[in-house]
Amino acid sequence: MDIGPVEHTVRGGANHNIQVLVRVRPPNSRELDQVSAVLRDRTKKCRTFPCAHPIASKSNATYSYDHVYDHDASQADIFESVGVPVTDAFLEGYHGCLIAYGQTGAGKTFTMQGPDEHTETDNISGDTGVMNAAEDPEQLGLIPRVLKRIFAHIESELAAAENKENARDVNIEKPELEFTVKCSYLEIYNETMADLLSDPGSAVQPNIREHDKKGVFVEGLTEASVQSAEETYDLFQRGSHNRRVGITEMNRESSRSHAVFTVNLESRRRAFAGAALQKRSALLHLVDLAGSERQKSTESAGVRLKEASAINKSLSALGNVIKALVDVSDGKDRHVPYRDSKLTFLLKEALGGKARCTLLACVSPAAGQIEETLSTLKFAQRAKLVKVTACKNEE
Ligand code: ADP
Ligand code: MG
Repeated sequence: MDIGPVEHTVRGGANHNIQVLVRVRPPNSRELDQVSAVLRDRTKKCRTFPCAHPIASKSNATYSYDHVYDHDASQADIFESVGVPVTDAFLEGYHGCLIAYGQTGAGKTFTMQGPDEHTETDNISGDTGVMNAAEDPEQLGLIPRVLKRIFAHIESELAAAENKENARDVNIEKPELEFTVKCSYLEIYNETMADLLSDPGSAVQPNIREHDKKGVFVEGLTEASVQSAEETYDLFQRGSHNRRVGITEMNRESSRSHAVFTVNLESRRRAFAGAALQKRSALLHLVDLAGSERQKSTESAGVRLKEASAINKSLSALGNVIKALVDVSDGKDRHVPYRDSKLTFLLKEALGGKARCTLLACVSPAAGQIEETLSTLKFAQRAKLVKVTACKNEE
């Protein structure tokens, strides 16, 4: 159930704010009796998302977002409200960015990707009896849905061009249309980057660079050419598996690393022979961030401490960049510290206004997690104030 949009936001025009969606995941079996009454009641009844929890009410906090979804929202609802607009703009040549933010266990990976083997289900019944959630197409997250839409669009454009060509006198005008899709998958862990699509044993260390014309890019990162949504999603899943293999080998958890899956779409089109060549190129970043929970200092020592501070560093760098961007949006002349972390440097263009950017703030319904929830809601509230002026990347 979509309770938003809460405020009127200009869609389709050049000026936007970062769009923010809040998703409260369903309680798991251990949480059923401790669901935050505030979140439960408010998301049901209100168009806005006020938090009457003591901490929030002290400051009388009321938050509002572009979309607020509670536990009965389907994956398709989320895709329709934020996946479709970002993907369609991307297909027109705008850079796009979907970022999942929130504490560990709040539903970031579920939202971006879909269920895992631990997902609790109400015995989804299929023809073959009880189905595993991970096999249920209804449960697929944003990434597979976005990929499907991208390739469906490409196929229909190619088919339309083909029809036009057949309809014409063969000797005259011949339309030209070509698409190139590439993808890459980068993990940032402890301020170190890993190429999740590289061959095992590859010693190339990816490195973020900035180019006058090209903008920010990652040198040494595998860019795989792909032909279909299935092939791309396969690669994505293989990369995610590499992320997990790395985890057990190096004794780390995926919740401590950021994962950035990027699709690069280039198109060249000419309406007829001799017409001007139109080139478009755009990037779509699909980002599953590390858990945003604050580390309890007692639990952090040695490697863990280093790890915790690196996570804090990039997430607090993200917070600082957002703060600076809010000031810039208010007309202040401010330096934006993109280079303070790998994550913010990599997402510089996406955050800094050249992309259609949507933040998906994922929160837990549990009363015991309310402090982390409020911290996520505050972060999301600030992000909503950032103005962006996305432009088409077309020659
Ligand atoms: P995160 O990536 O933020 O750490 P996960 O996406 O792994 O969190 O979610 C934690 C658990 O809750 C997983 O088992 C996941 O499948 C389940 N879950 C999260 N969101 C939902 C949802 N909307 N519906 C059903 N299960 C969910
Ligand atoms: Mg996760």
